[in-house]
Amino acid sequence: MGFTERGIVESEEPGFLRLSFFDELGVRHAFSTRKGGVSVPPYHSLNLGLSVGDNPAAVRENRRRYFSVLGLDPSRIVRVRQVHGNDVLVVDPGLAGREQFPRLLLDDDYLYDAMVTDVPGFGLTISTADCLPIFLADPRRRVIGAVHAGWRSSVQRIVERALRKMHEAYGTDPAECYAALGPGIRGCCYEVDEPVITKLKGACTAWQGCVKPIGEGRWMLDLARLNIAILGETGVSRERVVDTGLCTACRSDLFYSYRAEKPKTGRMMSVIALL
Ligand SMILES: [Zn+2]
Repeated sequence: MGFTERGIVESEEPGFLRLSFFDELGVRHAFSTRKGGVSVPPYHSLNLGLSVGDNPAAVRENRRRYFSVLGLDPSRIVRVRQVHGNDVLVVDPGLAGREQFPRLLLDDDYLYDAMVTDVPGFGLTISTADCLPIFLADPRRRVIGAVHAGWRSSVQRIVERALRKMHEAYGTDPAECYAALGPGIRGCCYEVDEPVITKLKGACTAWQGCVKPIGEGRWMLDLARLNIAILGETGVSRERVVDTGLCTACRSDLFYSYRAEKPKTGRMMSVIALL
């Protein structure tokens, strides 16, 4: 299936993908690709990660291009340090009003793997190079969420934690929410071992549908399926979940992939904002 059939719209200068389905919900969003930036190999070319060894000036220029094409105010871009955990940050006006904002959110104290907000204009970002970025939108209460779903945070049900936080903070009903799954490593390329499977078994009753055994103590894990199952268990219906279906490891022409290109590669940055 091509991009058009899946409702994916691609921009190239700078490179990003968006889902037309999600555009209709009153949010702006983008999943960056590696195209249309200024970084040189092995970071070519739209590397948006500062901590991977790339030239910081190139990364800053890439970020400037990316956020300016999206029409997002750089001073309202929120980025936390992702730690493969299950904590969710509520980005409220009080937090944003602090003097150090947004630098504050780059500090090591801000260890989160998901963010939620009802404040228009804040760009919630998720950095990845194989982990799955997931966006959440509640069009009725006008609330959004951004989730970093690698295997560790997925087995801690990070996407459910984000929805619960949207409920606590803003009254969101998961049954009224939509979810979008970005590019990430897929079941075709993500080999895992016994310790991962042990954790997975406790995480999701439908875990068997998310793995394929390939030999003694080895499995292929489908993180997208796992998170779609958890979304379902939390009350988000399947027809409200849109998946780009793209594998970062299969498509290293389009994306950075830690598994396919280690040790040195760049980072994509997905962003979602309420209009
Ligand atoms: Zn693949």
